Amino acid sequence: MTEKILKWIRPEIRQLSAYQVPDASGLTKLDAMENPYTLEPLTGNWPEVLAAAQINRYPDPSATELRRKLVQVMQVPEAAATMLGNGSDELIQMLAMAVSGKDRCILSFEPGFVMYRMIAEFVGMKYVGVPLDDVFQIDMQAARAAIEKYQPAIIFIAYPNNPTGNLFDEADIEEIIKIAPGLVVLDEAYHPFAQNSFMPKLKQYEQLLVMRTVSKMGLAGLRLGMLAGNPALIREVDKVRLPYNINVLTQHVAISALEHIDLLDEQAAMIRSEREALLAKLSNIQGVEVFPSQANFILFRILEREADEVFELIRKQGVLIKNMKATEGSLKQCLRVTVGKPEENKRFLQALKKVLGH
Ligand SMILES: *Cc1c(COP(=O)(O)O)cnc(C)c1O
Repeated sequence: MTEKILKWIRPEIRQLSAYQVPDASGLTKLDAMENPYTLEPLTGNWPEVLAAAQINRYPDPSATELRRKLVQVMQVPEAAATMLGNGSDELIQMLAMAVSGKDRCILSFEPGFVMYRMIAEFVGMKYVGVPLDDVFQIDMQAARAAIEKYQPAIIFIAYPNNPTGNLFDEADIEEIIKIAPGLVVLDEAYHPFAQNSFMPKLKQYEQLLVMRTVSKMGLAGLRLGMLAGNPALIREVDKVRLPYNINVLTQHVAISALEHIDLLDEQAAMIRSEREALLAKLSNIQGVEVFPSQANFILFRILEREADEVFELIRKQGVLIKNMKATEGSLKQCLRVTVGKPEENKRFLQALKKVLGH
């Protein structure tokens, strides 16, 4: 390809590296915070559900029935409005498009969810990442100074945070909501595993938005996220949404799956209890520093070996986890494992111990 053509691609896009999704074929997949359990007990009626979906027609553009179901299941306050995205990633993108401008910035915390930074770059906005303190809590002095200096259009707060797994202090978040000049988005992707939520506070703060997704609770393949907040604000953000962003099959299957929220709740409870077991076992392994988690994954640091090498050797034993690939900073030598089924976690622990020579 000649430069003559490529020069038309925006320079900041050419500088980006694409979001990498590694090939997991044949491996125990503990890299992407997926729920390991299937919905077997309730998929029996899906042939009828799918047959009833009219795929020759465009979907309901505002997915009214699905939103009603989500409002009920996710306990969205009556006064709030909702909109849906093709995954919460798309909601982050719509929020950014709705506020973007040359002098506008998005602020979040580091280490944090990489899509905030990437999407800010996609839409040509500045991104400010405020470093967390050494226990991965918000450094309030740094946060206050950055908010004052950069006047962010949106502050994204992942609650619990990814990739660290912890919940930030509630009072700190509340102070940030109060001093923020613009929108504050609480990204509650891991809510089923932490169960803390700012959803009830939507009534109190007009600048607050709460974002949820069905991905981590067991429906990642559907691509469905929800944003809840003040109706006037949601109405504006909804203007940049492409009309039919939630397809017919997703709308039908999600409604059917959410009818059985009890099953998804049971699975989340199993994952929470497996997380505690895995945390305890990981903490007993010498040469590993484990960070507390309220999510469905655990961040840990390799102390006496190269993390890259440990990651590769674990993969060679058939288990795929996530390499944070940090050569410096607070994620230095860190790996992240998703909580799987008991036998998957066991396979991971055995692989790790073998690599470390225990
Ligand atoms: C996984 C994740 C998302 C993205 O969820 P999708 O709905 O699958 O797009 C958003 N925020 C955080 C913090 C995540 O970890």
